[in-house]
Amino acid sequence: MIRETAPRLRIAIQKSGRLTDNSLDLLTRCGLRFSRARDQLVCFGENLPLDILLVRDDDIPGLVQEDACELGIVGQNVIAEKRLALAGNGGAPFQEVMALDFGRCRLAIAVPEDAAWAGIESVRGRRVATSYPLVLARWLADRGISADVIPQNGAVEIAPRLGRADMICDLVSTGSTLAANGLREVETVLESRAALIRTPVSIAPEKADWLDRLLRRIEGVQKVDGSKYIMLHAPRAALARITALLPGSEHPTILPLDGTDEKVALHAVCRENVFWETLESLKGAGATSILVLPVEKMLA
Ligand code: ATP
Ligand code: ZN
Repeated sequence: MIRETAPRLRIAIQKSGRLTDNSLDLLTRCGLRFSRARDQLVCFGENLPLDILLVRDDDIPGLVQEDACELGIVGQNVIAEKRLALAGNGGAPFQEVMALDFGRCRLAIAVPEDAAWAGIESVRGRRVATSYPLVLARWLADRGISADVIPQNGAVEIAPRLGRADMICDLVSTGSTLAANGLREVETVLESRAALIRTPVSIAPEKADWLDRLLRRIEGVQKVDGSKYIMLHAPRAALARITALLPGSEHPTILPLDGTDEKVALHAVCRENVFWETLESLKGAGATSILVLPVEKMLA
């Protein structure tokens, strides 16, 4: 049981959007139980001293910066823009603790399908609409290109059609939104995924202990994603060849088998997914009784 008076950590995540399900799923897999009612702003952690604050993603860095929440999960695209906005304000900025395995996208320049593109020189002197004006301006300045950066919140992809801009700089994952708006992607400005951020302020020892545990658990969850436990029987003579075929596994366990000296059992954790092709190659190398099991938790 958690005492009511125990100091509690707070983590801000996106209330409703592309990062919401993955963020809640990650916290659940870290062992947090909570109940979520519709339109609720705070979810109380039932079994850990950790509460979830549900907000717009753009507000997350600010809340963490002001220490209203110790932690936040937000896209690196938002992190980069907010960092530039905070630069020069003095004081320490919030910190990125670790990148997470979801929310992958890129901030990219896209031009109308029929527009010519001769590399980033084509941006010089043109108008670029974007929701990431500071990141784009910095990127252009680093390359010695001057252009007219037009800040726009939302619906950036229609700016060229409205005559507001010659091109855009926006988030892309599959590119289907661009295609639907007659645009083509020509240059990546920033690769992004979700990341965990923390307050710049030092955290009280009772909370810091829980923070460390949470971080280890998040690392554990990320490690097992895609990891497999593989068991098989192998002729001793083929062990080297079979071990070499196992993706991302360093030290397999070799166990004797009852009633035979020629064959052994091999157990290994593979850090990458094991595909049918790998199993077929293992079989071709002499392996039998091959079993592949999912890994649920891992603590290094
Ligand atoms: P909010 O209402 O919270 O402000 P939003 O409209 O700004 O929501 P979403 O569209 O839900 O935000 O995107 C949240 C984050 O998801 C982005 O900041 C980005 O990090 C990530 N993301 C992943 N793929 C994409 C994509 N194709 N387009 C936009 N964002 C993406
Ligand atoms: Zn947003």
